[in-house]
Amino acid sequence: GAAQHVPDKKVDSVCPYCGVGCQLTYNVKDNKILYVEGRDGPANHGRLCVKGRYGFDYAHHPHRLTKPLIRRAGVPKTGDFVMDPDRVMDVFREATWEEALELAGGKLKAIRDTHGRKALAGFGSAKGSNEEAYLFQKLVRTGFGTNNVDHCTRLCHASSVVALLEGIGSGAVSNPVMDVTKADVVIIIGANPTVNHPVAATWMKNAARAGTKLVILDPRRSELARFAHRYLQFKPDTDVALLNAMMHVIVSEGLVDQAFIANRTSGYEELRKNVEGYSPEAMAPICGIDADTIREVARLYATSKASMILWGMGVSQHVHGTDNARCLIALALMTGQIGREGTGLHPLRGQNNVQGASDAGLIPMMYPDYQHVSSPEARARFEQAWKLAPGTLDEKPGLTVVEVMDAIHHGDIRGMYVMGENPAMSDPDANHARDALAALDHLVVQDIFLTETAYLADVILPASAFAEKTGTFTNTDRLVQLGRQALNPPGDARQDLWIIQEIAKRLDLRWDYGHVSEVFDEMRRTMPSIAGITWERMERDDAVTYPCPNEGDPGQSVVFVDDFPRPTGRARFVPADVIPAAERPDTEYPLVLITGRQLEHWHTGSMTRRAAVLDALEPDPVALVHPLDLDAMGGRPGDLVTIESRRGKVSLYARADESSPRGAVFVPFCYYEAAINRLTNAALDPFAKIPEFKYCAIRVTLGGEP
Ligand code: SF4
Repeated sequence: GAAQHVPDKKVDSVCPYCGVGCQLTYNVKDNKILYVEGRDGPANHGRLCVKGRYGFDYAHHPHRLTKPLIRRAGVPKTGDFVMDPDRVMDVFREATWEEALELAGGKLKAIRDTHGRKALAGFGSAKGSNEEAYLFQKLVRTGFGTNNVDHCTRLCHASSVVALLEGIGSGAVSNPVMDVTKADVVIIIGANPTVNHPVAATWMKNAARAGTKLVILDPRRSELARFAHRYLQFKPDTDVALLNAMMHVIVSEGLVDQAFIANRTSGYEELRKNVEGYSPEAMAPICGIDADTIREVARLYATSKASMILWGMGVSQHVHGTDNARCLIALALMTGQIGREGTGLHPLRGQNNVQGASDAGLIPMMYPDYQHVSSPEARARFEQAWKLAPGTLDEKPGLTVVEVMDAIHHGDIRGMYVMGENPAMSDPDANHARDALAALDHLVVQDIFLTETAYLADVILPASAFAEKTGTFTNTDRLVQLGRQALNPPGDARQDLWIIQEIAKRLDLRWDYGHVSEVFDEMRRTMPSIAGITWERMERDDAVTYPCPNEGDPGQSVVFVDDFPRPTGRARFVPADVIPAAERPDTEYPLVLITGRQLEHWHTGSMTRRAAVLDALEPDPVALVHPLDLDAMGGRPGDLVTIESRRGKVSLYARADESSPRGAVFVPFCYYEAAINRLTNAALDPFAKIPEFKYCAIRVTLGGEP
């Protein structure tokens, strides 16, 4: 009857998916979410996308891990994971928490004591709260004794962050997404907001309707291109050529902001000389955009009252990802389009807490708040805050995600603790990553489902889903928001903060955190950017923007108004030259593979493929192929195709898709049965160690095993 659908409680929280950070309300009855409603948060004003509105029931899925699991003796770590709960008990046996924790933590400790602290590594998650990220990196740094801690930020915006830290002294956005409604011109490059930041895309469309000129630069034609004033479909991998040509125009036509350059920047001369060699005429055949269009767009951006740049993984996931971002930063600096409303630089963050997890120090080279591990002052500060003897903390930056996999192959890393990440699906050259995970002496995985990574574990610790815990999450706008617990975890599943502390105990750490707010308070003491945000204020206001250094500060949504957080106060130009992709098409592998996400599914699919509505909308693995390319192969939409690179092959269903350029195939990376990252190239950007997910050589043939 109807009473069945009447909630017994409403809990205000935020969406667990993307970095837009929409606020929502869970409507709960008998420990089940009945439905979700949008709330009036700063980023969404009541709006939600299909994932936020319908993607909640994974929390109730029968695949949830409800008991600790220990790998049965002698079961080899080979073969493919099959999402078949009946097979789980062939590989694992159930255990008590005490037994599982003793084994999980005890063996990590034994590896540390036998092989040294550098033989361990930990991956945290951008899906966890700030408090979980903070405690996890503290555990690795103080319990393992190494900086080998990282998470999926390495795979998404690491290059943007490196370029931003180098150029303007801060890795976060300068202006919130909502500023698109205050801009005259908005450049969106290498991003597909309709799919990946759907509610943000609605504000972009609203802005376009109200007169803002959207300029979209992307090899793939996104739905947002329909709203664009100009859409430039440049050739994949030619970002630097195109952006340098735009800067060439701005310099040669005298459209630079001389006063801004003189008063607020350094290194302009070098950049000016570098872009001299990039005339639009010379670059047009390289990037596939005619010189007049390059000129027009460059003038538009430089001369408008307020121009803003937003970008995504199309910019960052290249071996020249850092260079791509350097060019965007230089564009904003030379025109003075930063430091005011409706201007600035906005790398659109993917995960709901990828900004916060990085802020909290879940990265191998920085302590919380981007204090570098090699700085003696920073080390001393954290040794004091964490009550450690001077000289305890390691001064060497740790290994990044892909470097950890290589270190396992070399026998340097023997034990790992993975919390909520799924590198077996998300890492490039996933066969190599899976072999590495399988080669570990000891792998502890903490998750809510038996992921492809958990399948290779020695111990699995059943954790809590988003709606089962309270914590803070930082969205793409630097907005710290409160997620509140709406459900109790199922069976013996436990909250992640409790599990991290239990592992810490087994590594001889004496921690005593009660409520999550006690972790948050410690973070405030070590992180000047959020020092002014009290837990009481989080509970009252639900959302506060940092920097918020002092209690009572309103929080600053637009930064760099007067100066840049660099030692000189000035931003710095860094020139970039064209570097080709690590693996170009040839006669054997004539096509280009571009990977990414799709609207209905989230990352490696462990949540959304277990959400009924989302899975019904997109149930099968697909490859998006240009209709003319499909035709040339003699194929039709819906046909099975096999895609092969030098590293692996998968079979999936072809979908005719005019948004992909000819010669390029787009595949989402969420399908375990056609894990496309088996094919991607692990070549890294030298500055950020981000892999080249947006470009590798493949061939496609008709047919294959479904
Ligand atoms: Fe959630 Fe992002 Fe969709 Fe908002 S736009 S509902 S944060 S997935």
